[in-house]
Amino acid sequence: MERTLILIKPDAISRGLAGTVLGRFEQKGLKIAGMKMIQLGDALLREHYSHLADKPFFPTIAEFMSRTPVIALCLEGKEAVEVCRSLCGVTNSRKAAPGTIRGDLGMSMQCNLVHASDSPETAAAEVARFFKPEELFAYDPALINYLYASDER
Ligand code: ADP
Repeated sequence: MERTLILIKPDAISRGLAGTVLGRFEQKGLKIAGMKMIQLGDALLREHYSHLADKPFFPTIAEFMSRTPVIALCLEGKEAVEVCRSLCGVTNSRKAAPGTIRGDLGMSMQCNLVHASDSPETAAAEVARFFKPEELFAYDPALINYLYASDER
């Protein structure tokens, strides 16, 4: 099982789409290992978006991401990082494929509803950034694994 970090962004919260976005992941079989609401501050945003810190649009992202609290999720499943990225679609919502969260619901490059970790290494760092170990919950694998069993040879 793999874990990944999802943020439900202020545009989804403002538009009343938090449940819809969470539902897309649940419907795909991802399990909620952790979930909480956070008001993002400057320090956390700088760390989380450090790969964009020197982009001209960084201040706009920081302003957008702190406009309302966000919902942080740690989701768990087989190949969770890749599955969640493909459920989200590409960054620019207007170019994201229909059927993806951004493609169906997003309105722009910036207001694209959701963040999802982009690799297992990033996911490990991002989950640790947003959740203390005691805020994460494990499921009994026996209750879940059979759903993936048809993959095994
Ligand atoms: P992703 O979230 O798809 O992994 P990035 O890590 O490149 O994409 O960017 C982080 C977030 O910054 C995007 O989800 C989006 O909200 C915002 N963003 C990225 N590029 C732009 C841009 N050119 N203009 C405005 N906002 C942007």
